[in-house]
Amino acid sequence: MHKITIAIDGYSSCGKSTTAKNVAKRLGYGYIDTGAMYRAVTLYFHQHLVTLTNQKEVIKALDNIQIEFRRNPNDGRNETYLNGLNVEDEIRKLYIANKVSEVSAIAEVRHAMVAQQRKMGKKKGVVLDGRDIGTVVFPDAELKLFMTADPIIRANRRQIELSEKGELVDIEDIIENIKNRDLIDTTRKESPLRKAEDAIDIDTSYMTLDEQVETVCLLADEALSKAIRN
Ligand code: C5P
Repeated sequence: MHKITIAIDGYSSCGKSTTAKNVAKRLGYGYIDTGAMYRAVTLYFHQHLVTLTNQKEVIKALDNIQIEFRRNPNDGRNETYLNGLNVEDEIRKLYIANKVSEVSAIAEVRHAMVAQQRKMGKKKGVVLDGRDIGTVVFPDAELKLFMTADPIIRANRRQIELSEKGELVDIEDIIENIKNRDLIDTTRKESPLRKAEDAIDIDTSYMTLDEQVETVCLLADEALSKAIRN
């Protein structure tokens, strides 16, 4: 059966991951949460006190990092494993979010993650979400989307998400984190966040999750038909 690659890029907390996950489920595709991979690297660097400016230390640490996604048999959720340990909850915490953009701006980190993402997605039939999927990881993806949303709405969504996981965080701290991450992600030297020329914009500010999933599935249908015709 013909399958395509779906690349979803955009700013933090625009609904990329939740939409990507649901679209993958509807289409019977795989889902690769590339942000989780950068978060897992950040957790490892934090635990092993890696000096981010020390290239040798960074390279050595990357050699010792193994990231996988495993399906939770109870709820079918894809969970992130770092060197065999489930780190899904830990990597979502604010102390990781506050450090991840600095870690993911390091060239060696990006090269290692991009190589792994290309391997994971080479058979097509995957939805990936991140910052550089349509521009760097899979520039030939048949469907590229660029998600945006109002920053205050994004912060509110993030606050709800964190509180559902038991982490109560002041809205000002979340706005600060989102602003910082956007700034570092869009201005870094190595593959900065930008919209691919052929990406389709989706502003999720006033869309429900169902509407987002529906919109992406319709676009995926069109992209698939086009890919089959060509
Ligand atoms: O998507 P999420 O918010 O979990 O991503 C966390 C961080 O990882 C982003 O703010 C960004 O710094 C980095 N990232 C990246 N490239 C990707 C995915 C995430 O640089 N493809």
